[in-house]
Amino acid sequence: MKINNLEQLELSLQSSLSTIQNEFDNYQKKFFVARSPEFFCLELNGEAGELANLEKKQWKGRNIEPEKFADEAADVFIALLNYVNARGISLENAVIDKLYKIENIRQERAENGLTY
Ligand SMILES: [Mg+2]
Repeated sequence: MKINNLEQLELSLQSSLSTIQNEFDNYQKKFFVARSPEFFCLELNGEAGELANLEKKQWKGRNIEPEKFADEAADVFIALLNYVNARGISLENAVIDKLYKIENIRQERAENGLTY
């Protein structure tokens, strides 16, 4: 049976994302103060804002070093992991469910000659 790209992505997520999320949770619980989901949601949005601000500065013509984008992207990822762990969300399940919802919409639109 031929496996499609989304199924391959799902297999990759299943073999790695929950491990990353759980190992990150173990690390955080061992070395950092526990915080509420609300705190991490604010932190996530703050970090996303810092990343957006760098993009805005570059868009306006400033030269931003590539490491700064990477640093802020890492902050967003870390804040997201902290948020889903504090909220009790399985990121693996949530991402896989969402990818299939998006794919269904994409296919419906493609059947009508529309892009997503
Ligand atoms: Mg930051």
